[in-house]
Amino acid sequence: MMTKPHILAIPYPAQGHVIPTMELCLCLVKHGCKVTFVNTEFNHNRIIKSMSEADNVMNLVSVPDGLGVEEDRNDTKKLAEAVFKVVPGKVEALIRKINESDENRVSCVIADENLGWALDLAKKLGLQRVAFWTASAASLAMMFNVPKLVDDGIVGNNGEILKKQSIKLLPLMPDMNSTDLLWNCFSDPGLQRFVFDLAFKNNESVKAAEWIICNSSQVMENEVFAAYPKLIPIGPLLASNRLGKTSGHFWREDTDCLKWLDQQPLNSVIYVAFGSHTIFDMAEFQELALGLELTNRPFLWVVRQGFIEEAANPYPEGFIDRIRNRGRLVEWAPQQKVLAHPSLGCFLSHCGWNSTIEGVCNGLPFLCWPYFADQFFDKSYICDVWKTGLGFDRNENGIIGRQEIKNKVEQLFGDENFKARAVDLQAEVLSSVKRGGSSYQNFSSFVNWIKAKN
Ligand code: UDP
Repeated sequence: MMTKPHILAIPYPAQGHVIPTMELCLCLVKHGCKVTFVNTEFNHNRIIKSMSEADNVMNLVSVPDGLGVEEDRNDTKKLAEAVFKVVPGKVEALIRKINESDENRVSCVIADENLGWALDLAKKLGLQRVAFWTASAASLAMMFNVPKLVDDGIVGNNGEILKKQSIKLLPLMPDMNSTDLLWNCFSDPGLQRFVFDLAFKNNESVKAAEWIICNSSQVMENEVFAAYPKLIPIGPLLASNRLGKTSGHFWREDTDCLKWLDQQPLNSVIYVAFGSHTIFDMAEFQELALGLELTNRPFLWVVRQGFIEEAANPYPEGFIDRIRNRGRLVEWAPQQKVLAHPSLGCFLSHCGWNSTIEGVCNGLPFLCWPYFADQFFDKSYICDVWKTGLGFDRNENGIIGRQEIKNKVEQLFGDENFKARAVDLQAEVLSSVKRGGSSYQNFSSFVNWIKAKN
């Protein structure tokens, strides 16, 4: 019997990276590969704790992230520096150990594109190299263009934004404000510099990758894939895998909200979720709460631990009592199942790429509330390119006010074209992961390549 190709997969240690990388690996397991999935110890322990069912199709292993037990993993700078210093050596030792035996040898490394060092390491060890990009292909194209932005005098040699302007790489690709470039979204100057330098390093390392695969679909970003033929869309992965059942969560999913959804009218519920990172300040949190109340519609709102900066009880006075009959608050939702529920009417989202594609796969219109880097890009796709959603306007104090929230909710529900376009896009995107579709074919070629090189 032919031995299964053994893949070592390394996600960037953040929730929005671990989930899609796990989905990719579950697809590979289904297609006859063996996967060793490397998390940091900290994330590994959280994932194991949050798993509700034994999902032992992969070998889940862990390496230390270089931080002490008590140190704050939300400190992006600390985490990134520790991860880049400590994890490479640990992963190298892990691969060498596995490959001491002749039977079980790792033949291929799949690494998050942000971890260029893992691609360099794989090259050094003579292994196949695959870079996986978990955000939009457009945002990777933007990273590829960072040296050009420096040459054009838009960005300085240390990453400082010299010209505040919108950047448009391709005619139909959404433009991005130079101030929304990834590193510029961090407030710490040291972290800005670290992330800026990393873009150059990763651009070099990714040249060693034999495949650069993206959790996107040609249907969603046709022009980008045409201009960057090395980027191969194989997504949306969840839709091609096991719709509704995700892995790799850092928090335990509150499945009771699904029963609550069962009791709501068709296409009525506003699902409100801002991914795994967003932190609101008190003023915007309260406006959001009051805005949802004003809509008079049922809503399901994810208020993650740490979502709000201060205060033991951040809700407006009396809010919880007043919304009891039509609002539901959860700390972490089974988002895939929620989005697929027939009661859902729209997705009020921060437009992280995973949330974006998950909403698209379920034919949902969006209300867009981006706050960081590529989320502005994703918002432009939704509002300007696919025309399946609306953004919010900020008031003179820079806040999205309650009335604005109510108005946009009414506008979205009041115009059935949003839903109609969302359903059309859903059909096209889902057909790309079905037999014969572009992502399906790309994924098949990819798996065949892994097997042939084994
Ligand atoms: N997610 C979830 N439950 C929640 C909120 C988010 O399962 O209550 C999942 C969501 O389905 C997505 C991921 O967490 O797969 C968030 O990724 P995204 O790229 O949208 O945002 P990020 O967390 O990276 O900002």
